[in-house]
Amino acid sequence: MKKVDFAFTEASLRECTAAAERFTGQGANWHNHVLKPTCMFNPRPGTYALVIENNSSGKILVHFADANPVEEEQYIVKLRHGAAILASPPAAAGTPSSGPSEPEILARIRDLSERRADWHHHMMFPDCVLNPRRGEWLITLEVSGEQDILQYASDTEPFETLREIENLFFAQETGR
Ligand SMILES: [Zn+2]
Ligand SMILES: [Zn+2]
Repeated sequence: MKKVDFAFTEASLRECTAAAERFTGQGANWHNHVLKPTCMFNPRPGTYALVIENNSSGKILVHFADANPVEEEQYIVKLRHGAAILASPPAAAGTPSSGPSEPEILARIRDLSERRADWHHHMMFPDCVLNPRRGEWLITLEVSGEQDILQYASDTEPFETLREIENLFFAQETGR
C-alpha cells in the first residue's frame, strides 16, 4: 500500500468531538481514524493522530496527542457506527457471511492481541482518502515492524468484523 498525504486542519480534541456530533446531526458522510505513532498514514509520526474526515465537505480535522485519547475515540466510534459497535462480547450471530479473506484478518488480529503485539487497523469507508480501493469497504491491518499490510475488502459494510476488531483494539489500548 502506498502512503497517502492528505490536507488537514489541526484541531483540539474538543473541536474534533464537537465536529463529529455536528456531522452526525447533519447526516454528513463522515468517519474517523486513529493513527498510532507508527502508522504509515500519520502526518506526524511519533504522536497519536485522531482524524475526523468529512467526505461531504472534503474537510479533514486532525488532533495530535502524546497519549491516545481513548475515551473520546470510543465516543466518536459509537457516534459513527452506533453503540453496538463496542458491545462486547459480540452477539452470537454465527459465522458472518463474508469474503474469503475475512477469517484471515480476524485470526491474525486475535493472534496478535494474544501475543500483545503492537498492531492497529483502519476502517476505510468507500470514499475515504486513504482507501486505495475506492468504492469498496476496506479494513487494513498494520503491525509494528512489519512491511506487509493485510487487507480485507467488502462490498458492504463489514459491521460484525469491525465490531470484533474494535473491541480487540480498545482492549489493547486500555490494557484490559
Ligand atoms: Zn495505520
Ligand atoms: Zn478515511
